[in-house]
Amino acid sequence: MSKKIILDENDLPKQWYNIQADLPKPLPPVIHPGTKQPITPDDLAPLFPMSLIMQEVSQERWIDIPEPVRDVYKIWRPSPLVRADRWEKALDTPAKIYYKWEGQSPPGSHKPNTAVAQAFFNKEAGVKRITTETGAGQWGSALSFACNILDIECKVYMVRVSYDQKPYRRLMMQTWGAQCLPSPSTETEAGRRILEENPDTPGSLGIAISEAVEEAAKREDTKYALGSVLNHVMLHQTVLGLEAKKQMEIAGDYPDIVIGCAGGGSNFAGLMLPFARDKIVDGKNIDIIGVEPTACPTMTRGLYRYDFGDTACTTPLLKMFTLGHAFIPAPIHAGGLRYHGMAPIICHLLDLGIIKAQAYHQNPCFDACISFARAEGHILAPETAHAVKATMDAALECKKTGESKVILFNASGHGHFDMASFQKYFDKDLEDYEYPDEELKKALESLPEIESA
Ligand SMILES: *Cc1c(COP(=O)(O)O)cnc(C)c1O
Repeated sequence: MSKKIILDENDLPKQWYNIQADLPKPLPPVIHPGTKQPITPDDLAPLFPMSLIMQEVSQERWIDIPEPVRDVYKIWRPSPLVRADRWEKALDTPAKIYYKWEGQSPPGSHKPNTAVAQAFFNKEAGVKRITTETGAGQWGSALSFACNILDIECKVYMVRVSYDQKPYRRLMMQTWGAQCLPSPSTETEAGRRILEENPDTPGSLGIAISEAVEEAAKREDTKYALGSVLNHVMLHQTVLGLEAKKQMEIAGDYPDIVIGCAGGGSNFAGLMLPFARDKIVDGKNIDIIGVEPTACPTMTRGLYRYDFGDTACTTPLLKMFTLGHAFIPAPIHAGGLRYHGMAPIICHLLDLGIIKAQAYHQNPCFDACISFARAEGHILAPETAHAVKATMDAALECKKTGESKVILFNASGHGHFDMASFQKYFDKDLEDYEYPDEELKKALESLPEIESA
């Protein structure tokens, strides 16, 4: 039995898979917050190149991966599929556990799969600069890496508190030649307004989004990029699931359970969408599970409603499971999982009963993450730890029932820049947060009134 299934460069997928072609019911439209009508491609044109907007609404099943994008992917792709046999032994489970290892990309996660594609389509459209926001810095560093390779300027608004507390991601961005500045900044009207009111503000992702969007909307040579949630991001991430499917075939197995952690939903979608197709089209019997923190329980406790993508209420309205754009997440260490909404594609599949969701507290996720590290070696990100915990539970359930199910999970990234959170865990200083019902009710009261499509 081989430990790793490694594909040849020539086996790198030539096309991304678009689930929109196979949905039993089409996605609800995206709504313009002013007119309350479905938005048109032209509404989005100030922010994104038309090629990406067309991917957003495309009903084509397969979309070509441009050769220059495949060329950059080859720096780290195809990524390995690994049999976690040592961890199986440690857990004493009859289950077979596989993980798709996305932590060996230069920025250390799955995020460059879309960053490289977005940088390429912007470059092709003649765009000179891309702006974006970043919280803990994973997305900012992925986009910086991609823009550097494809020779586009990159400007990252990083939430002030992370900018000060997490200098290493910022230094990665600088190493790849990007400009990273703390948000709020004096570069935009939104930033200046907030600084005037509150000069010592720690900033927030909502403010950083407003700054990045404002600059892109104002400048002819500049567009904006988003690292998760949107359909074209889910599309680009399918490169990893398509590889995984081929690798499972080579291993001679097919998953009974597919698991991923979900913040905006992109790494989970990337892995599971090609398998969701098998479930929809071929009637395959697979459990597909998205895992989120109990402190930010979007899919497990949110409402399926139209909401803004940002806290500043500037984006189009997306139909999604949401905790309300006014939701203020507890300071858990899985920074990438603290988003109030979820990708519309994920929410639609959840609503249709094709996928499921589970929530866990952060301490048991760290327990599982450390169990995995001691058996398999890799120290995974606190976000990824949520997928590890769900995998461990499924494997321990198999131990009880004696079933040898095949479990596949996405190892979305390494945790090398998150060791301060491991310190807190070892010091027993990590808190588990349950979002109180009254707070949730309050945040949900701020949802915009839209006739549900
Ligand atoms: C950003 C990130 C996530 C969460 O984002 P998704 O869009 O839900 O995938 C998960 N894992 C890692 C390692 C990340 O960097």
